Amino acid sequence: MATGTINVQSENIFPIIKKFLYSDHEIFLRELISNATDATQRVKALSSMGKVKDELGDLQIEVVVNKESKTLHIIDKGIGMDETEIEKYINEIAFSGAEEFVNKYKDKTDGANMIGHFGLGFYSSFMVAEKVEIITKSYKKTAKAVRWECDGSPKYTIKPGDRKERGTEVILHIAEDSVEFLEENKISELLTKYCKFLPVEIKFGTKTDNVPDGKDKDGNEKTKEVVSDNIVNNVAPAWKKQPAKLKDEDYQNFYRELYPYSFEEPLFHIHLNVDYPFNLTGILYFPRLKNKVEIQKDKIQLYCNQVFVTDSVEGIVPEFLTLLHGVIDSPDIPLNISRSYLQSDARVKQIASHISKKVADKLEKLFKKDRKDFEGKWDDIKIFIEYGMLAEDKFYDKGTKFCLFKNTDNEFFTMEEYEKKIKKTQMDKNKKLVYLYANNAEEQHSYIHAARERGYDVLLMDSALSAHFVGRLEQKMTDASFVRVDADTIDQLIDKDEEQTSKLTEKDQDKLKPVIEGIVPKEKFSVVFKSMSEKDQPMSVTEPEFARRMKDMNEIGGGGMMGMGSMPDMFTLVVNSNHPLIGKILKEKDKKKQKTLAKQAADLALLSKNMLKGEELTKFVQRSIKNL
Ligand code: ADP
Repeated sequence: MATGTINVQSENIFPIIKKFLYSDHEIFLRELISNATDATQRVKALSSMGKVKDELGDLQIEVVVNKESKTLHIIDKGIGMDETEIEKYINEIAFSGAEEFVNKYKDKTDGANMIGHFGLGFYSSFMVAEKVEIITKSYKKTAKAVRWECDGSPKYTIKPGDRKERGTEVILHIAEDSVEFLEENKISELLTKYCKFLPVEIKFGTKTDNVPDGKDKDGNEKTKEVVSDNIVNNVAPAWKKQPAKLKDEDYQNFYRELYPYSFEEPLFHIHLNVDYPFNLTGILYFPRLKNKVEIQKDKIQLYCNQVFVTDSVEGIVPEFLTLLHGVIDSPDIPLNISRSYLQSDARVKQIASHISKKVADKLEKLFKKDRKDFEGKWDDIKIFIEYGMLAEDKFYDKGTKFCLFKNTDNEFFTMEEYEKKIKKTQMDKNKKLVYLYANNAEEQHSYIHAARERGYDVLLMDSALSAHFVGRLEQKMTDASFVRVDADTIDQLIDKDEEQTSKLTEKDQDKLKPVIEGIVPKEKFSVVFKSMSEKDQPMSVTEPEFARRMKDMNEIGGGGMMGMGSMPDMFTLVVNSNHPLIGKILKEKDKKKQKTLAKQAADLALLSKNMLKGEELTKFVQRSIKNL
């Protein structure tokens, strides 16, 4: 037997590992199973090179909980270690690695901010164990089994071990404060989380030593050992396979496997498969987003060589891509750095822009392959595409090929097609092309109707990002402006410089203005006279484009308006000075009658904009009935 002291350079790291490092102690299991997987993969590799002559046998990794002895066992049939290797790998390399790791992170309060809490390695077992044993036998022919033991002080012992087969068993004597890791359900949950797609089979069992087993021939109570177990992982997940070998159905099935609690079917997928200049595999799915940019519950999962790392990929992929679902697996994403450093990492940048390009390429391909189908899915993916085009110039440029405009007749156009369509009819006097849009076809019906009557086309831009998106389009498209149909009177929406003469003189207008101002709240409405067609409404409510867009952007956030609080509503009550009813109101001598007429006309305008509510609406209905 040998005892030794681990060479502690700075301060004793064990108490730090135990108490202060992480809140999620559970990652110890991932670290130990990763080691077991590596050892197994290495014995496989050695065997294929002819360096291990014996039959490898079954290579399953076993995880066993023993409640009676309060131990958790991780057993592999990998390469194992001999005494010198234990000294070297566990006492020196693993320890100094852990020490370096602890020193780096112990003072950081943002431990949780690290990507996957990777890097602590073997010594993470002391987060949950008061004593750890390693019983191991190297694959080398002459090697003898050894047993290493350490109770969480820098002292350890090495003795001969009693293991016959090649491989390693790590035994954790679970500490009093960590007994949850002796619960079958807890371990099962962790295996599902971290090891679901590990490349080596993991068998999970609970071992119960003293189950009654009848009586022996002398009549004494007998007990037996019962082990229940099952395989917890799929060693060959879809993303690791060749795309050519997979059918749509396989991708759908994998989605189910990934998100067993999701009821939605994804719309389509992208299989990522790169090995140069970085290694990246994965499958991304487009969910039906409808109109939402909400926090997704089925998030993209990040793996490193099939070991789960995290499902928060912020900082690794561009934010708009986090709306997608699926898996990304890359050993080239640095996992032991803090999130704040991620985005400046050159490799991460490369990976992010690669994914973003692949996604854009896929969308373009889908659009070109089957436009009808793409149009059918448009409402579910538009918010994603808008988000991408807002966020990235490159994605914008690619997006111009597949981003669609949908009008209020449910017709779809590419950006180029639409420009052609409206070029003749919707050019204003300054040669600007005016894109008219509505964001709610029901509520803005009367405005849409008026625009259509003029021979204009109206787009439906009803996603939560539309306010931002139209701003982006204006920025990118030369000589184009976007105007919501209720932003101005129909003549002014697209100003073609066709002046109408006014039937009311300025004097008339000055006389009538205070009457009309008296019937609507001053702080909300400004009253303006305009010479319009006799066929247009006598009064109408408009909401200037710029202020309204700012307000909308402020509501959904972003756009530099954050934290400004809500902005006041600003409306214009436009009085059509050429409408006969306005002339009639002007001439009305009876002040009370005049007010009622004006009020009725203003209410009709409010009603058209869906703004007549509550008591005002009730009064309007009563007044209308009386006048029938
Ligand atoms: P890392 O896995 O990052 O190298 P660890 O602290 O987890 O760091 O492990 C240190 C070393 O100990 C490993 O590189 C490996 O050589 C050895 N080791 C750990 N677990 C096993 C095992 N189950 N079988 C064989 N060798 C192991």
